[in-house]
Amino acid sequence: MAKHQFQTEVGQLLHLMTHSLYSHKEIFIRELVSNASDAIDKLNYLRLTDKKLKDDEYKGVINIKIDEKDSSITIADNGIGMNEEELISSIGTIAKSGTKSFVEAMSGDAKKDSNLIGQFGVGFYSVFMVASKVDVISKKAGEDVAYKWSSDGSGEFDISSCTKDESGTVIYIKLNDENKSDYTSKYKVKEVVKKYSDHIAYPIFLNYQEEVTQELSEEDKKANETKDENEKIKPTTKIENKREQINEATALWTQPKAKLKKDEYHDFYKTISHDSDEPMAYVHTKAEGVNNYTTLFYIPKKAPMDMYRVDYKPGVKLYVKRVFITDDEKELLPTYLRFVKGIIDSDDLPLNVSRELLQENKIMANIKQSSIKKVLSEIKKLSKKEDLYKEFIDQYNRPLKEGAYQDYTNKEAILELIRYKSTNDKELKTSLEDYKTRASTDQKAIFYIVGDDENMLRNSPLLESYTKNKIEVLILDDKEVDEVVTPSLGAYKDWEFKDVSSVKAPETKTDEKKEEKTKKEFEPLTKKIKDILGDEVKEVQITNRLDTSPSCVVKDPDDPMAQMAGMMKAMGQEVPESPPILQINPEHEIVKSLNSSKDKKMIENISHLLLDQAKLSEGLNIKDTVAYINRVNFMLKKAIK
Ligand code: ADP
Repeated sequence: MAKHQFQTEVGQLLHLMTHSLYSHKEIFIRELVSNASDAIDKLNYLRLTDKKLKDDEYKGVINIKIDEKDSSITIADNGIGMNEEELISSIGTIAKSGTKSFVEAMSGDAKKDSNLIGQFGVGFYSVFMVASKVDVISKKAGEDVAYKWSSDGSGEFDISSCTKDESGTVIYIKLNDENKSDYTSKYKVKEVVKKYSDHIAYPIFLNYQEEVTQELSEEDKKANETKDENEKIKPTTKIENKREQINEATALWTQPKAKLKKDEYHDFYKTISHDSDEPMAYVHTKAEGVNNYTTLFYIPKKAPMDMYRVDYKPGVKLYVKRVFITDDEKELLPTYLRFVKGIIDSDDLPLNVSRELLQENKIMANIKQSSIKKVLSEIKKLSKKEDLYKEFIDQYNRPLKEGAYQDYTNKEAILELIRYKSTNDKELKTSLEDYKTRASTDQKAIFYIVGDDENMLRNSPLLESYTKNKIEVLILDDKEVDEVVTPSLGAYKDWEFKDVSSVKAPETKTDEKKEEKTKKEFEPLTKKIKDILGDEVKEVQITNRLDTSPSCVVKDPDDPMAQMAGMMKAMGQEVPESPPILQINPEHEIVKSLNSSKDKKMIENISHLLLDQAKLSEGLNIKDTVAYINRVNFMLKKAIK
């Protein structure tokens, strides 16, 4: 027998789980049944390709056995099983990166935390909420030796070889005192299975013993008639083994839509998603014709915790003629729809479709395209219900933005679904259609500003001329995504996206002669400032875009570096900073006085301050903070004299 140590995080996890999921202990059954069902799925799939495992009689089943005298519950499957290595890596040392994030994400709120459990794939450990000891006896399909893993969950586990006839896994759970009466009760176990696992596609049997009283025979009854009360023959009792199926075991999606009720859809969602909340929406489609397939998609109320991790688990399972093929295929739906849970079941794909070939398969490509359209049109339906859509946007605006960037075919449909904040709207609710309706028809451009601080963006000097001209500007404060996505979007229905920090300000109606004159008048000053600031700025210009601010910084729209920046960021590359263009406001008092000043020191200080404050108001770093403070103090001293 070999002793092994749990990794530290497992220890932490067990501790947290027992404490914070206190009122949701029953989910251990859901987790183990779901593992059993996955194991049968896997064996079913393997049998398609591995001749050694071919057995026409094979039928996946899950058996739950409760034993009151022994204070135990056992959950057994005849699925793929685990060998020694897999026992160690899957439920032993827990190499999974998710565990650590899980521990960090635990909030102490039992409802939230029980949802987290499935999402992080740490389901097995939930068993220690009710167990004083657990044995996992498993034999991998196609292998000869079986292994027994045992642990009391306190930090160590043992592994030894053992014998077992059939391949599959038996999980024997010795219940702790607190939980032994609950989980040896057939009513409780039935209730929990019904609640979470009714639509697991394999039958789940409950095995238990019951004391049955045997009726007296007619003869005994007759004899009793003449006997005294204390001499009467008593009925005997006998312990009988009982076995009954306790789940529906139908693949819900194969049933006609008209027959299914909302509750059934919701229950099925809970079975496949590990979520204890109801879904936000679902859509069930049967396609018949060129391709025959069924899809059932769900949008969870809350975005999956691991959605932004590289190793996220996609939530869609592929079946072929009811046989599970894979849930590990990130390409069943495009990555931006990775929050969608559900199933795709095709009648046309070959059963032995290899996972590698799936990506090039025409039928699969068709199913994928129409699935995307289905999901998008379901989201569009949601968008008509204001309150609900607000919840949706709170969770999923960001993946939609990714979609507008990734999915050229559906770009316009996706753009219609995204919501924005704008100078017109404090809330995240402006659609591009709203924006267009509110703008004057000849505007033909969608103006936006990007940064990560909403307040700063709203107060940016770059917006002054737009405000003055009553032009709405989208406030994009999810910088990480917006900065990459928006510049690449091109246009929405012929209206081009334009970054206010790089376009010329919207044409204000100034007369050209006056402009010429101002330009001439301020040319020496712009040159002077450029000399003082040197490489810190690309150019110094006068502008009519400002109203109350003396200066602002903008990107050079013709700078090839600026055009590439978005793309480079998207590829995770460091983007070299290119110096901005400094624009000054010739109508502003400071700039006017500066133009007539002869005080060299003063001109130098103010030039730097004009650049620094313009950068600060765009949330950019200034080059030299100490110099900046010294200059401000210099000016303050002057002012107070
Ligand atoms: P998850 O099921 O979310 O991956 P678990 O902690 O519940 O997380 O299980 C970890 C792994 O252990 C599973 O991914 C699977 O590989 C293996 N496993 C668990 N239960 C079984 C089982 N009954 N049969 C075969 N493998 C299993």
